[in-house]
Amino acid sequence: MKSLRIRSYAKVNLGLEVLGVREDGYHELRTLFQTVDLADEIVLRPQAKGVRVLCDHPLVPQDGTNLAARAAELVRRYTRVTKGVEIRIAKRIPVGGGLGGGSSNAACVLLGLDRLWKLGLGPDGLHRLAVKLGADVPYFLLGGTALGLARGDEVYPLRRQIRAYIVLVDPGISVSTARVFARLDGRLTPRENSNSIYYFVSRQLEGSGGYRFLQNDLEEAALEEAPELRAQTGRIRAVLLRAGASLSALSGSGSSYFGLFEDARSARRARAALADAGLRALVARTLTLEQYRGAWGRYRYRLSQ
Ligand code: ATP
Repeated sequence: MKSLRIRSYAKVNLGLEVLGVREDGYHELRTLFQTVDLADEIVLRPQAKGVRVLCDHPLVPQDGTNLAARAAELVRRYTRVTKGVEIRIAKRIPVGGGLGGGSSNAACVLLGLDRLWKLGLGPDGLHRLAVKLGADVPYFLLGGTALGLARGDEVYPLRRQIRAYIVLVDPGISVSTARVFARLDGRLTPRENSNSIYYFVSRQLEGSGGYRFLQNDLEEAALEEAPELRAQTGRIRAVLLRAGASLSALSGSGSSYFGLFEDARSARRARAALADAGLRALVARTLTLEQYRGAWGRYRYRLSQ
């Protein structure tokens, strides 16, 4: 029987604005997503019935609460397919790092089962299922440089796709997104007219950086949630900026920090300086929308007997 091998890429948030709390209890966001070429490996293997998930990371559940398993169950329920699948996940994306690993895995399972079971769900069907799984899942159906609005689940690709190097620092701490938002709620004042992302997008269209406008509204709450992260923040930022980063920020609700570099040499220099300071870091490349989609046709998605 044929199985499917998929690369499930990570993202960073280049910027994130929290505009307020919506009537449905979710937060109204504006964010800039960017996929990077750090990826988990997923293998989907058909089986007679049921959904089974296996993962090599101790912090990732191997039962029905795994987001990849939830995605598979949702597809089966929605399409009334009775076939089963085994999902094997080799984790390379840090867990609870604000890099969207779980959401990416879920989107890959949706796309993968659509192909494996020849369902023909189409963009609308896939999107409808993705929003039920989480606010970041729809973005991973698309990838590249994209603007996320509403809960982050309304996604629009940017005309100018970013090609750069991302130095990712993994402080080895898992931060709960729900807890960070709960902390933020206590002091959130609605601010519909925040325009940092607007400035950035218009500068990008003109061809200049604009990275200095970007900010992450979750950073202060994330640092309160994880005081051991606060102790490292100043050091990480200083090293990244000294090495020439155009942007240094927390991704999502943390705990990963990253630096964006225009050239590979400076990125490698930053990684070496971080290693000297005793910090774990790796150099990744951004993936454009085209590269992300192309990957689905080539190496990202491979059928084997
Ligand atoms: P989020 O913003 O959704 O919290 P994150 O990028 O910070 O995302 P993830 O790596 O997606 O963090 O993990 C968040 C939580 O989800 C962890 O507690 C983890 O145990 C759980 N989880 C469930 N399924 C998965 C999965 N397939 N991969 C990673 N984590 C998963």
